[in-house]
Amino acid sequence: MRAYVLGTSAATTSPRRDNASLILDAGGRYILIDCPGSVAHKMARLSLSPLEIWGIFITHAHPEHIYGLPALIHLMRRKGRRGALPIYLPLGEEWKAIRLLNTFSLFNKPGPFRIELRGLPGDGEPFLQEGGLKASCLRVDHKVAANGIRVEAGRPRRIFAYTGDTRPCPNAVALGKGSDIFFHDSTYPNGRAEEAHSQGHSTAGEAGDDAERAGARRLALFHIGSACFGKEGLIRRQAAARFGGEVLIPRDLSAIDI
Ligand SMILES: [Zn+2]
Ligand SMILES: [Zn+2]
Repeated sequence: MRAYVLGTSAATTSPRRDNASLILDAGGRYILIDCPGSVAHKMARLSLSPLEIWGIFITHAHPEHIYGLPALIHLMRRKGRRGALPIYLPLGEEWKAIRLLNTFSLFNKPGPFRIELRGLPGDGEPFLQEGGLKASCLRVDHKVAANGIRVEAGRPRRIFAYTGDTRPCPNAVALGKGSDIFFHDSTYPNGRAEEAHSQGHSTAGEAGDDAERAGARRLALFHIGSACFGKEGLIRRQAAARFGGEVLIPRDLSAIDI
């Protein structure tokens, strides 16, 4: 498997970091995780085409995690995409994608391109299981209904886990159990836990705690908040003080082999 990192920031962006999003190449199946702006442009910079996207997993319906959907769907249609495009959202939030797309009359226009919207309860049951690929999700602890995702694929078997936006919680640990790479919310540095929790997020040290409990091999600090901009060395040390594995802070437009 391989993760193509499209963006790494929380809601506030910087010249170096755009809103968190990535493409997971799970044995040749490309899953887009969250959909902020300019997905097609970022994919092009990584030599990928938006027509390669198999499906879209939206962790939750906060604006910067979903607002790029209409532009991406519009582009796919113009480029002649055919067949079904699964879009997964937390159960009960599907209407937000429909309303967003229908602002531009983009939800299931007649034609060979079909959007299959599916609400996921986040109960750990696989929502995709095919060949050697298994994808499941768990409800995490955020301000709105939010699912983290776990994908197992390949030979030898590799495990990718991604919390999306979350406070530290048992389900985040369960997602990352034995993972080869664990992308964990790291919106705040240590010392600002109260603020982090009130916003539904984690500190770098708490990401380290969850990764340690999960027995992950590598921790990728992700969803970097503005309070962490320019302090990457510090948050890496804060996470590493509580986690025995390797700590990464991915850059935008980078690729990580899993
Ligand atoms: Zn967010
Ligand atoms: Zn959020």
